[in-house]
Amino acid sequence: MIPDRNEIKKALVNLLEREGSLSPSTVYRALSDHFGLSTSDLAKKTDTNESFFEKEVRWAKKDLVDSGVIKMPQQSGRGIWELSVKSEEELSPILAYSPEEIERELSKVTLSLSPPVGQKKPERASSSGEIFARDVRVVAYVLKEAKGTCEACTKPSPFTKADGMSYLEVHHLRRLADGGTDTVQNAIAVCPNCHRELHHGRNKTALRDLVYSRISRVVRE
Ligand SMILES: [Zn+2]
Ligand SMILES: [Zn+2]
Repeated sequence: MIPDRNEIKKALVNLLEREGSLSPSTVYRALSDHFGLSTSDLAKKTDTNESFFEKEVRWAKKDLVDSGVIKMPQQSGRGIWELSVKSEEELSPILAYSPEEIERELSKVTLSLSPPVGQKKPERASSSGEIFARDVRVVAYVLKEAKGTCEACTKPSPFTKADGMSYLEVHHLRRLADGGTDTVQNAIAVCPNCHRELHHGRNKTALRDLVYSRISRVVRE
């Protein structure tokens, strides 16, 4: 059975997150393996005699380009599919810090003391200007204050990591690329589902407003 377009979109983002940049033919092969497509699924043609499955994958890719998740061909080069830097930065939970660094900071955080100052103007860590150096103390403080509960949906973190910590991702309510600060007033700890929704959901603004009203630490920027 050929999966629906939303399933294809999800699988495509996961694939590119894992593999970096890929050619369309590699994507078709990897996704057809992922979905366990049969020979007859793959033989299915469109009216114009193209592979139906490959056309669905191209549709999913186009939709992800339109929403800014995958780079436009002018940015990535023709025949190369790649997540845009912004989404890589935002989707990866805590870029640039090793688990050990975060662990070390977590052990130092005491919630009763005043929170770390963070950075009002986060420094750009790459020449392309899209990756920002984040303050590991802000990450640690926010994770500690969340106590293993998503600050958007209030559900418990989906799993415990190998190091025994609850898995949550740190999200900036106003994006650093849009001038948001890297401070505990602009950062929240959320589950992966809420994180995706805060970036790509139809109701992302409502969800963000809910966070602003519920979490006393955060301040609108
Ligand atoms: Zn959540
Ligand atoms: Zn985010």
